Amino acid sequence: MIIMKSDATQEEIENVIKEISKCGLRADVSKGAYRTVIGLVGDEQKVPFERFAILPGVKEARMIETPYKLISREYAKLSGEESQHRVVKVGNVDIGGSEPVFIAGPCAVESKTQLFRIAEGVKMAGAHILRGGIFKPRTSIHSFQGLGAGGQEEAEEALGWLREAGNRFEMPVVTEIRGEGQVDLVADYVDVIQIGARNMYDQDLLTKVARKGKPILYKRHFGAGIEEFLSFTEYMVAEDNRDIILCERGILPLGKGRNYTRYTLDLAAVPAIQKETYLPVIIDPSHAAGRRDLVFDLSCAGIAVGASGLIIEVHYNPVEALVDGQQMITPDELKDVINACQRVHKAIGPRRNDD
Ligand code: PEP
Ligand code: MN
Repeated sequence: MIIMKSDATQEEIENVIKEISKCGLRADVSKGAYRTVIGLVGDEQKVPFERFAILPGVKEARMIETPYKLISREYAKLSGEESQHRVVKVGNVDIGGSEPVFIAGPCAVESKTQLFRIAEGVKMAGAHILRGGIFKPRTSIHSFQGLGAGGQEEAEEALGWLREAGNRFEMPVVTEIRGEGQVDLVADYVDVIQIGARNMYDQDLLTKVARKGKPILYKRHFGAGIEEFLSFTEYMVAEDNRDIILCERGILPLGKGRNYTRYTLDLAAVPAIQKETYLPVIIDPSHAAGRRDLVFDLSCAGIAVGASGLIIEVHYNPVEALVDGQQMITPDELKDVINACQRVHKAIGPRRNDD
């Protein structure tokens, strides 16, 4: 990391960037209120920091040992950013702002009628963003893979419905991409691109999605430690995309735990991650619990520990859903969840500014 003097000129900054590229690394330039900080993207062993420290305009040059630094609060602090918390703007919705954000919709888009009926229901319940899976990651090839699996035409048709539902009910939309081949297509239709838990480790996919410049909903893999999760997040920020919403969605349960919950919601991950990074964190109580009767409690708990929002699966008649019916709640139940979460949030107050 190279910290520039507060009065460093543009020319001096550019000279440092040039020297960094001579070493075979890329520069991430962060212009703060007081000074510019230049993060190095690549192998820092190749950088002679003693030489950088004496370049004109440089205040300090040193190696940062953590595997993630571009997303760290420390980095934001160094450049004198006033807010150490990023608000990700999705249309007119602020994620990480003063109010919790609710993302809701079906696990999978099954038809235009199903999607529109659910979209209307979640909007009336108070949701801000509409979700709907079109490319579903499934354990078994024999299960419904989402309408996108039918081919390009079917995928575009379903993406079109999602876009139309979002426009009709005035909610930005999010859907998951499962592979690099879907990125260009999906980016044309949605406001937020979701990278699911199973793809958390796919660094080529992360890079490709980040380059689209759209907000990304990035889920933690169920076996990933917090450090791994944050380290892989760095791949996207290194592409100069800081509109990343991190999502805790449960880690593998121990022993016979799976008889009771699908995963184990790692509530501590929210404040723990929030102390490390300025990016907002949300909770997915639906996939964590795997059962609808726990969604209310986990949602309240998520907001209580400081999550910036929730992503919840909703269906007007969960038993007829082709995927994840057991964990979907109805729009009426969503309304109760949102009301309760807003009360919890009000009682506890904003958490992201805690130090
Ligand atoms: C989803 O949100 O539809 C999903 C598949 O979630 P996860 O990647 O967390 O399993
Ligand atoms: Mn699901």
